[in-house]
Amino acid sequence: MKKDIHPKYFENTKVTCSCGASFEIGSTIPELKVEICSNCHPVYTGKKKFIDTAGRLEKFMAKMEKSKKMQEEASERKKAKKEKVKKQDSQKNEEADLKEETNVSDK
Ligand SMILES: [Zn+2]
Repeated sequence: MKKDIHPKYFENTKVTCSCGASFEIGSTIPELKVEICSNCHPVYTGKKKFIDTAGRLEKFMAKMEKSKKMQEEASERKKAKKEKVKKQDSQKNEEADLKEETNVSDK
C-alpha cells in the first residue's frame, strides 16, 4: 500500500437509521446516519411506506384532496341539474295526462 494516500479505515462504523435500527460496517467515516436501511425499506419489509424528505407527498395529498372536493361539487351540481330536468319532465307528463283525461270526457 502506498503511504499517505489512503483514508483512515474504520472497522466498526456505526450506521444509525431513522427507523431506529443500527449496525456496524467498515467505512472511512466513523459514524453514518441513513434515512432508510434494509430493516425498514419496503423492498425488504413488504409493507407500503412512503419515503418523503421534501414534503412532496404532502403537497400531492393536498392536491388530491382539492381535486376530490372539486369533483364532488361538480357531481352535486350535475345531480341538481338532473333533478330539475326530471321535475320538468314529470310536470309535462302530468299536463299530458290531464289533456288525455279531458279528451276522454269529451267523447
Ligand atoms: Zn431503517
